[in-house]
Amino acid sequence: MPSTLLNKVWNAHTVRTLPTGQTQLFVGLHLIHEVTTPQAFDMLRARGWRVRFPSRTIATVDHIVPTRDQRRPFSDVMAEEMLAALERNCREAGIRLFDINSGSQGIVHVIGPELGLTQPGMTIACGDSHTSTHGAFGAVAFGIGTSQVRDVLASQCLAMEPLKVRRIEVDGRLSRGVYAKDVILEIIRRLGVNGGVGFAYEYGGPAVDAMTMDERMTMCNMSIEGGARVGYVNPDETTIEYLRGRTFVPAGDAFERAAEWWKSMRSDPGAAYDDEVRIDAGAIAPTVTWGINPGQSVYVDERLPKPTDVPPGERASLAEALEFMGFHGGDPISGTRIDVAFVGSCTNARLSDLREAARIVRGRHVAPHVRALVVPGSQSIRAAAEREGLDRIFAEAGFDWRGAGCSMCLAMNQDRLEGREICASSSNRNFKGRQGSPTGRTLLMSPAMVAAAALAGEVVDVRNVAV
Ligand code: SF4
Repeated sequence: MPSTLLNKVWNAHTVRTLPTGQTQLFVGLHLIHEVTTPQAFDMLRARGWRVRFPSRTIATVDHIVPTRDQRRPFSDVMAEEMLAALERNCREAGIRLFDINSGSQGIVHVIGPELGLTQPGMTIACGDSHTSTHGAFGAVAFGIGTSQVRDVLASQCLAMEPLKVRRIEVDGRLSRGVYAKDVILEIIRRLGVNGGVGFAYEYGGPAVDAMTMDERMTMCNMSIEGGARVGYVNPDETTIEYLRGRTFVPAGDAFERAAEWWKSMRSDPGAAYDDEVRIDAGAIAPTVTWGINPGQSVYVDERLPKPTDVPPGERASLAEALEFMGFHGGDPISGTRIDVAFVGSCTNARLSDLREAARIVRGRHVAPHVRALVVPGSQSIRAAAEREGLDRIFAEAGFDWRGAGCSMCLAMNQDRLEGREICASSSNRNFKGRQGSPTGRTLLMSPAMVAAAALAGEVVDVRNVAV
């Protein structure tokens, strides 16, 4: 029977079916970080349990690290304590930690792929919602909570509900000035923030085939914002060439054998899907969120919806979002004044994102009232960007060039919005208070759109600035 990648990977990792109907699933790779692990390690210790497969567990530090000055001890006492706890836990359990001095530290969903830890056909779990990022490689990757982190540490297994598969076929080609970020915002806008509940999203079609791995990661990263716990792309030559030569990938003949197996995990022609959706890439324009969830977005040349534009059941949430944001239905999004511009996060802080933002700001300057920062996704990306001179381009344009970390995506560190500030952000969530201020406001968009907004001091169409 033709099968989907989801089902092939699921079956290959099934230990048994539990009496609840759930699957006991073996986890090939467990990625951990400083925020969701301290309690899990404490729970293990309290029961006298050991980490079952230390070699299948990899740690880094990302959420709490300062990005301006990363010398130890951190000036933030709590951040220093959290990192020290992770170091202690990893040392005791024999887990490899990519810490601040490693040269490979970074956001967990950035370093997994760049080190070649993330590979097709794997099951990957991490105590962070955006673990779906790793699905770009044809892995089945999902976020888990702290008690599940404990379970995976103790047994390398999880009890999981089976998932349905929705094939999302992205036809055609992206227009200039339109990026993977716009595609995933379009998908979430069309299918809703809960549209993917119970599904894995399989992304395919000509526009996805043409994407780089960085772009596929951007798309898969935000699957969870559409309610899908898992999002993936079938592995192809782009995947294989990305992985060739990376640190944790086999070399020589072993690589060729691995590549054959990776390709065999692709969804088969004729595989049955629980649902299929088609999107026309050519019809997508640069997209900006205007509300308090990632599904509340418009094209940059559109106006905000009015309560009367939506079905009665959606009016209250629309009115709540407009009120929180201080916007009015019918207003254009273009021209919205911003206070902060943030290029960063596991969605859009890879080298290609930084190159594109730098291309737009080169030789220009950030608007005087805008605070702008660029936070690379990893130390490796930061070093590569500096070798290309991107740091100088950003600095000359008035951006702060920072160390790697989650930074203002979640503001569990010193990078945060103040008061009612509005941030043009390349991150993935625009929930109330997400960027550190309970009243701060987030407009999600592509890094290129963030760069253009930083220069103009307001939301503008990047296609009119530099494409
Ligand atoms: S960058 Fe944001 S979404 Fe990604 S892991 Fe860090 S806090 Fe989570």
